[in-house]
Amino acid sequence: MTEKRKGIKRIGVFTSGGDAPGMNAAVRAVTRSAIAHKLDVVGIRRGYQGMIEGDFVKLRSSDVSGIMQLGGTFLQTARSTEFRSDEGMAKAYQQLKSQEIDAVVVIGGDGSFRGALDFSQQYDIPFVGIPGTIDNDMYGTDYTIGFDTALNTVVEAVDKIKDTASSHGRIFFVEVMGREAGQLALKAGVACGAEVILIPEIQSDEIELEKFITKGYKSKKRSGIIMVAEGDKAGGAFKLAEKVQKEHPDLDVRVSILGHMQRGGNPSAIDRVKATQLGVAAVEALLDDQKSIMVGLKDDKIVHVPMVKVVKMNRDIDNDLLNIHRTINTL
Ligand code: ATP
Repeated sequence: MTEKRKGIKRIGVFTSGGDAPGMNAAVRAVTRSAIAHKLDVVGIRRGYQGMIEGDFVKLRSSDVSGIMQLGGTFLQTARSTEFRSDEGMAKAYQQLKSQEIDAVVVIGGDGSFRGALDFSQQYDIPFVGIPGTIDNDMYGTDYTIGFDTALNTVVEAVDKIKDTASSHGRIFFVEVMGREAGQLALKAGVACGAEVILIPEIQSDEIELEKFITKGYKSKKRSGIIMVAEGDKAGGAFKLAEKVQKEHPDLDVRVSILGHMQRGGNPSAIDRVKATQLGVAAVEALLDDQKSIMVGLKDDKIVHVPMVKVVKMNRDIDNDLLNIHRTINTL
């Protein structure tokens, strides 16, 4: 166990931005490892907004019992406009000080880390981040909390859609979350055996779609799944389906937008285990005098990545996986 450093006595923990399954497991791990290091733990409800309003709750070990298997976040989350202002940050600082909170763990995405960075540039309370978003789009880590569960949710839903697609000989455009990132669509597309995958990072795949319709569907196949990330350049599943239907009036085209169900549900075993690893690592990083870093996982090993890099850089799409998908779908 790491020696306690620099007189940290009480830490705060909160979830921020979009909710993701596994966040509860991370809060539990942060709380219990902090207690193991003889620290007090304060849960901050509703993200930065709750911090500004002083919506705090003391967390004992028993307070985080029975939450690991639950989806969502029991501390709740929020998007706070007020925290973006100097006044909002000053209020948040006063609230943290009044609770004698010496250091904070933030669980969230890029935006949440941007807030933490801005705050740390003005105030003397260190922040360490844990990547939590179903998009898995953060620089510096192979994994973000919630991605594995969301992926399994999409696969389960699309398996069902495939049954009806093949029974009726339909082409289904399935839209999954990912305004700027196609990681979920790519992995889900491979796992579901989608014929075409359309993601924001790649422009040219409308050609693949046309190829599938003219060469694949019409001559060899009788149904198809087109996996579309919501941020795809063509404008999402509805627009694409409309266009295809117009150009090929003989086809039976349908759209399914999976929507918010992708955020919910009990976290997978992988999400629970990795959230636990990251939660413990975040507390150890604070005790080790780290600040303004994200704890991440690379090749299943804990890494520390400066938040400034995380918010500036993008995670590359897995081109090898994309090529594998194209190879096995060559017509
Ligand atoms: P997701 O990836 O799920 O959207 P996120 O953490 O990126 O999660 P955001 O809504 O972008 O979600 O950010 C969460 C909150 O962080 C914002 O509501 C805001 O309170 C705070 N925040 C974001 N950017 C800044 C900033 N530049 N300065 C101060 N606070 C910020």
